[in-house]
Amino acid sequence: MKELPVINVLPVHELYLPVQKKTFSFVPYTVEQERNILTAIDSKDTKAIVGNYMKVISECGNGIDFENLTAMEFILIAVNLRSKSKGEILDITTKCKKCEKPIELSINIEDHIITENEEIVSDICTIDDDLAFEIVPVKMSFLYEVEAIETQADLLLETAAHSIKKVFWNKEIYTDFTPEQIKERISLTHPILKKIFESSSKLIKMTLKIDVACHDKECGYTEDYIVRDFLKYLS
Ligand SMILES: [Zn+2]
Repeated sequence: MKELPVINVLPVHELYLPVQKKTFSFVPYTVEQERNILTAIDSKDTKAIVGNYMKVISECGNGIDFENLTAMEFILIAVNLRSKSKGEILDITTKCKKCEKPIELSINIEDHIITENEEIVSDICTIDDDLAFEIVPVKMSFLYEVEAIETQADLLLETAAHSIKKVFWNKEIYTDFTPEQIKERISLTHPILKKIFESSSKLIKMTLKIDVACHDKECGYTEDYIVRDFLKYLS
């Protein structure tokens, strides 16, 4: 009797990562690999979702540099991996903002992802004659921290601290620091945060945009539902 050989019929797919300006090739995940992702998604714990996706991404793709990967590209990979492994259709349940009834939607994820400012991967944010920052899209490590953030003010502060890649101060350029050090050592006032967000709004961004219409005809509520952090929807 012949021993069963390893049978691998997985097609290789390619995805362009717009910030790293690199092509990432990957094969679909198997049902076995999917199980861990689904368990994590059920737990609604972003850290577990990101951790499990990282594991599957490194098993299905080659040589991905997680340290330099932006949060946006990480989500882009997760979305593509999901749609090439399981199908493009995603079932989303949300709630009507007017009558609060559940709204169930089936959408083709790839059709609803919108990328804006595609070519812009950094911006210089000038605060005054002595101080300026180079602002870049946040790294995927930010996804780990976003879960623990409780207030809107903290979210703004964390996002700003994670967006700064270089500090120009008194004719010196500083590049070696953590987001923690940014918060501790630079007095980030509201006007400074505002300038940082003006800069980061010019950068490349990716959103999932869905037209939501309440199933209840009498209610008739509609909206453009914009999802930025859509990892939780990828089950
Ligand atoms: Zn409604």
